[in-house]
Amino acid sequence: MKVELQNLTKIFPSRNKKSGEEVVAVNNFTFTIPDGKLVGLLGPSGCGKSTTLYMISGLQQPTSGKIFFGEEDVTELSPENRGIGLVFQNYALYPHMTVRQNILFPLQNLRGKDKMTKQQMLDRAYEAAKLVQIDGLMDRKPNELSGGQQQRVAIARALVKMPRVLLLDEPLSNLDARLRLQTREEIRRIQKETGITTIFVTHDQEEAMSISDIIVVMKLGVVQQIGKPQEIYDDPINLFVAKFLGTPPINVLSGYVKDEKLYIGDAEIMTVNGVDDRDVTVAIRPEGFNLEENGPLVCALSNVEVMGRDVSIVSRHESSLNPVLRSIINADNKIDITAETVSFSLKPHKVFLFDAETEERIYFEV
Ligand code: ADP
Ligand code: MG
Repeated sequence: MKVELQNLTKIFPSRNKKSGEEVVAVNNFTFTIPDGKLVGLLGPSGCGKSTTLYMISGLQQPTSGKIFFGEEDVTELSPENRGIGLVFQNYALYPHMTVRQNILFPLQNLRGKDKMTKQQMLDRAYEAAKLVQIDGLMDRKPNELSGGQQQRVAIARALVKMPRVLLLDEPLSNLDARLRLQTREEIRRIQKETGITTIFVTHDQEEAMSISDIIVVMKLGVVQQIGKPQEIYDDPINLFVAKFLGTPPINVLSGYVKDEKLYIGDAEIMTVNGVDDRDVTVAIRPEGFNLEENGPLVCALSNVEVMGRDVSIVSRHESSLNPVLRSIINADNKIDITAETVSFSLKPHKVFLFDAETEERIYFEV
């Protein structure tokens, strides 16, 4: 099911009538989620991810804008009638019910032509449980399950009505690191198997990158960039997006351009054709450095961390806007760990320039 958001906006009135300001939680969000895809809504806490999801679910009404499922305008439709499955961070299972009863619950409320027989419901519940691999735990109560198992029950409960759209709000946040990894792979598998259009909210860029067909990066209620994970990583539209994606994070330095050459400090670093003379913010991906004896970017060497295949070089530079620079280079390179300085040249396609004021991208040719 294709989901279309048209100029979706949500404004919360101020809580304090005298001094408080209203909050624009979601600002003019227009986007079509293609049928059968998994879209990651990514951004820091408070940027409007949950609000967007709740508007799609019908739990919250937009202040303005429209939502379509396929060709159907669902903006005014109640949550029960939208055909959505919703999973929250805290599994929100009924504690006094067994796993089976929890999964059956949404089916028991179906009325009219959707009403099912007992056996049909049991079959459907079993199918959903099998999909998330908890069919062996049907008689347990939630408190007899691990966090990961509880979250699977919540996913099964969201799937049992065969929703048109599956909405997941930070579903992995309460799980430990290993379970988080495993459950996210499970969600990806289930999504592929069922082909249900899915919207996955997270503040964790790695999670969003690994699971999504398409990522939507948000900041303060405003969509910054939409695209495939790799495309956004390779071609960020502004400094916020560049900084939000990638581990270790991108290196940020101040610099300037003169006669189509990029300078950091006094050193001429590389050619940047097509850029006028100006101050710039330079962002360099950790994998964008070449170790080069007479390379133009000379940094004070702090530390070398060996990580097997790669080596992480931690260094300092007075133009850096982060405390340290992190460069990831191949372990085959010979590094003198006793040296005071380390010199680099840069890979141009791993270097992004931004306006020092607006933080918008400045494009150049090599
Ligand atoms: P996220 O899920 O990305 O962390 P939310 O969508 O929950 O962000 O919130 C976006 C903004 O809207 C935040 O500034 C939040 O404080 C505000 N907000 C969310 N819900 C309400 C509400 N019911 N009343 C007032 N403000 C709210
Ligand atoms: Mg949220």
